[in-house]
Amino acid sequence: MPLVVILDDVATNRKVFAELAASIESGVTVRSFGDPAETLAWLEHNTPDLIVTDFKMPVMDGAEFIRRFRTQPNGAEIPVIVITIYEEREFRLRALEAGATDFLNSPIDHQEFVTRARNLLKLRKQQIQLATRADSLARELKDSERSREEALRDSSERLAQVVDTVPAMISATDSDGRILFINEFQAALAGIVPAEAVGLDMQAVFGEDHGKRSKTLDRKVISTKAALPSFEEEIVDFIGTKRVFLTTKTPLRNRFNAVVGVLTSSLDITDRKRAENHLFYMAHHDVLTGLPNRALLSDRLRREIARSRRGDRRFALHLVDLDGFKDINDGLGHQVGDQFLIEVASRLRLLVRENDTIARFGGDEFAILQTHIMRNEDAADMATRIIEAIGAPWSHAGERVTSSASIGIAIHPTDGADAQELLRNSDLALYRATHDGGKVFRFYASDMNRRARASLILDSDLHEAIAKEQFVLHYQPQIALRTGQITGAEALLRWQRPGHGLVGPSEFLARAEENGLIIPINEWVLREACRQAKSWQQRGHPPIRVGVNLSSIQFFKQNVPLLVTKVLADTGLDPWLLDLELTEGIVMHDAEAVARDLQQLRDLGVGISIDDFGTRYSSLTYIKNFTVDRLKIDQCFIRDLTINPSDAAIVRAIVSLGHSLGLEIVAEGVESAEQLALLRTEGCDEVQGFYFAAPMPSEELVAFFSENRAQARRA
Ligand code: C2E
Ligand code: MG
Ligand code: MG
Repeated sequence: MPLVVILDDVATNRKVFAELAASIESGVTVRSFGDPAETLAWLEHNTPDLIVTDFKMPVMDGAEFIRRFRTQPNGAEIPVIVITIYEEREFRLRALEAGATDFLNSPIDHQEFVTRARNLLKLRKQQIQLATRADSLARELKDSERSREEALRDSSERLAQVVDTVPAMISATDSDGRILFINEFQAALAGIVPAEAVGLDMQAVFGEDHGKRSKTLDRKVISTKAALPSFEEEIVDFIGTKRVFLTTKTPLRNRFNAVVGVLTSSLDITDRKRAENHLFYMAHHDVLTGLPNRALLSDRLRREIARSRRGDRRFALHLVDLDGFKDINDGLGHQVGDQFLIEVASRLRLLVRENDTIARFGGDEFAILQTHIMRNEDAADMATRIIEAIGAPWSHAGERVTSSASIGIAIHPTDGADAQELLRNSDLALYRATHDGGKVFRFYASDMNRRARASLILDSDLHEAIAKEQFVLHYQPQIALRTGQITGAEALLRWQRPGHGLVGPSEFLARAEENGLIIPINEWVLREACRQAKSWQQRGHPPIRVGVNLSSIQFFKQNVPLLVTKVLADTGLDPWLLDLELTEGIVMHDAEAVARDLQQLRDLGVGISIDDFGTRYSSLTYIKNFTVDRLKIDQCFIRDLTINPSDAAIVRAIVSLGHSLGLEIVAEGVESAEQLALLRTEGCDEVQGFYFAAPMPSEELVAFFSENRAQARRA
């Protein structure tokens, strides 16, 4: 008999929810409360199957209620639905953190209420069944007076029964990838019966993709004789439904403790993922128009900036304000105002390209992130089209509405180095546009002449820098989290520019890419880094991998595999001690040609890392098609890791995706112990950042090696 608890401080709500709950299925008992504290006291002695609670309550809110309930002895497993108002995304995140299972929007949609509640009750029932079955098994075993042998046989049969009915895929495979055992649940997903699968190759049973991936990972488990950290994977069942599983792989040992295969168990977390995705969506979108909100736009800005750090991309940020929107709102009412905003959103959608982002900042303010522009005129074209589109008349319920738009534009990198500066400067430009009478766009004023002159000087200085060998490399250690040992060092370019001191790459690499000098510069970097890595080894240090950043231009203008072969031969460095860092951009551009080059490099034995990973939207899908060794999570996700839940979610997704493809995960820009602790729990393999060491000259690095070894020995 399912028991449902309703908690709401408003009596009419309690009554409605109780009626709805009673209609979920026959036999439901409902208990209603108006006071959270009273509910908690009651829950100490009673175990319901579902709790539906309001969020906003006078003394204790829904999040706090759930948090306290979850610490009670029976509180961990009972599903809790929270009722909130759409816009309250902070509340939702808090409730989620406190342990809410699902959400309902107020005002309540009756059918949605019943469906969600019914699903959760069903899940709860399965949980209880499973627990009871395991319980009775344990009890029977204990009480059993039959001979040990009999009991053992019996118990293993029962165990097999449990293994067969849990909603999880469980399988064992031998070292050749043949199936030793699969449970009913998994067999059903594959569309066969368990007995038929035994002895078959896993690719034949699990399907091409899943089988191949599983085999690669199994090989790793067998060779390391250690379990893999759990990871999420998407699996398509035999009728084509996608599901998400949380998979764990552990070595399967025989009686002599030798590893003879792999035991794989995968929990079906499709529903949880769906709920997570829904929440993620809610936290990042404007409800009225369905457009990204300010938070998501800021995220995309950060990503776009990271992506253009090497200077080969520009983008525009347009801030759009509707002229006279207030008149529409005041004159025709909020409902018409809302409809008009929806209309504006759909007009804007028609104007942008796939990689652009339109956001609503609330009120009548919109923003457009126009990616990949060649010239400022591209941004001006876009702004003109926006003004035209918004200026077109619109009729609604017999009313004819006209409005117009003002736009402020800021261009990256000229008008701002970070998201805040770009937003501020586009806002200044918008201010000017509105004050010039509206219905116009204005660029943030920039001093173009001065800039052009500076570029010319930079060009000639760079030429001289190459001729006079003014470049130096600094190295930043990379540390394996499992052992605390230094495993590699990334070579980062510096320029001893006369009159300017030591200059970092952000001040000249963009220009070097434009004028082509990047090619000789990077050739020098590669050679110098390999030479120094070899010299560390010759001085008796254990082999340390050296990371070298490549530029996309190199792949188009030169034969990278040939260059690498030559440099390795000249310097005598072992290929596996060289790690090439490429950005996602390189891999995207001309996929086939680059894939060929990458394969050749891998054949040489050289490692490949994807740098600044995650700063492209398409990242997760394409990476499967390239053979790489390592993903370096971009520092923009690490920076606010401990305060921004969406960054933490992204890191988790990257780690789990990477591990499922057998890749190592490196986090960049680690600056604090808190970040480090979080990365450790997320299963990150290596870290790099100021927390351990800033980039330093080769000589200092050598001293750092010795210290690190002494420390690791003491630890
Ligand atoms: P990257 O490859 O992502 O390098 C990491 C950057 O993060 C480096 O900046 C490093 O100094 C910085 N960093 C490391 N730890 C921390 C930290 O804890 N906090 C913060 N805030 N920053 C940290 P750097 O040296 O200024 O290099 C910037 C970018 O320039 C590099 O990003 C890379 O894309 C490029 N670059 C550097 N050297 C070369 C080179 O030889 N060739 C090419 N093509 N690009 C290079
Ligand atoms: Mg790098
Ligand atoms: Mg990086």
